[in-house]
Amino acid sequence: MIIRGGAIGPPPFCFNGGSKRDMTSAPILDIRDIHKDYGSYQALKGVSLSVRQGEFIALVGPSGCGKTTLLKQIAGFEDATSGTISIDGRDMAGVPAAHRPTSMVFQKLALFPHMTVAENIGFPLKLRKVAQGEIAARVNEMLTLMQLKPIYLDRFPRALSGGEQQRVALARSMISSPKLLLLDEPLSALDVKLKKVLQSELKRLHRSVGVTFVHVTHDLEEAMMLADRICVMRAGHILQLGEPADIYYRPADAFVAGFIGETNLFPVEITSRAKGRVRYSAGSFDDASGELPEALVAEAAQGAALMNVRPELIRRIGPEDKVDCRVTARVTEVFTKGGTVQYRAHTSQGMDLAVEIQGTSRLPMEVGEEVHLGWNKKDIWVLPGGEP
Ligand code: ATP
Repeated sequence: MIIRGGAIGPPPFCFNGGSKRDMTSAPILDIRDIHKDYGSYQALKGVSLSVRQGEFIALVGPSGCGKTTLLKQIAGFEDATSGTISIDGRDMAGVPAAHRPTSMVFQKLALFPHMTVAENIGFPLKLRKVAQGEIAARVNEMLTLMQLKPIYLDRFPRALSGGEQQRVALARSMISSPKLLLLDEPLSALDVKLKKVLQSELKRLHRSVGVTFVHVTHDLEEAMMLADRICVMRAGHILQLGEPADIYYRPADAFVAGFIGETNLFPVEITSRAKGRVRYSAGSFDDASGELPEALVAEAAQGAALMNVRPELIRRIGPEDKVDCRVTARVTEVFTKGGTVQYRAHTSQGMDLAVEIQGTSRLPMEVGEEVHLGWNKKDIWVLPGGEP
């Protein structure tokens, strides 16, 4: 079966290099078994998450899964029903939002329309009764950090572009030197080109200030590019937390596999696991049975399981080509997408496949053609069965 991805197809997109943080140090943010009920509705059902100093965490998941609710509990805008949240070793129970070392940037800009850019950026320090001279100096620092021109200082928000306004919002969120920056889809209202620019800005900002970021986004490509670790949520639970490439190539289950990008899930039956080897039988492709190193099989995969093969890992094979797994299929659709070509193909076992091949491939395919497709075992990941 093809599992259609949330917002992205297969690469080309870049994975962030993953976390190079010291994973042994105490976490800056430690969330333990947080529950949040709104009346009888359980928005968070026991979420635990540890974030290291300086990490960039992306929270992703379908609409309504609890991402913003989690940010609100961290920021202290709401009280959790149960569970604990500690920031930098301090329990936040009873600590109001204004006294937490956090700052939140929202999707909908919350700039004060009647204040100039300088007043907007300096506002958090004014609230703390910091001296005027110091505020002005810090505002200038923030201006440089966010690459905003000094001529903007006296303008009102309405005289700035959407991207400039979002930079001002980021500058304002950074001026009080928060330990945790909480970003609730801050780029989602921007057009594609501006979004790309601001994504690079966020990355640069994260690198240069060393602040810990927790970033909610619907843009999976953005999560892949920016985050050290991605946290996939569904229905008030965390399903998987891991480095971008792990989430993409080693999803915990069929839901994560499909949510994070288009994929092919071949049903297989795990018949034995012994001495680091896993044997399986398969009716969904041409090889009736096979063996895999245990490292390519999720621990939770038992009995009925799914072999996850991303579209870009399947290729057309000729008679001379040697591959570990193969299937015969008829091409049903062709889409050209930049430098790559995406295909749909229907296998002789009755599965619809997604295949992505470089536009320069020596073996292009045409609609109606019967083709042999193959993939190698080193590229696959076997996950627990069951419907996504
Ligand atoms: P989206 O991606 O659409 O922004 P989300 O994952 O951020 O979604 P939340 O805003 O955290 O989702 O909401 C989680 C669930 O809790 C939703 O079903 C929402 O309707 C519900 N919810 C949020 N706030 C309240 C509230 N104040 N009262 C009742 N239900 C609420």
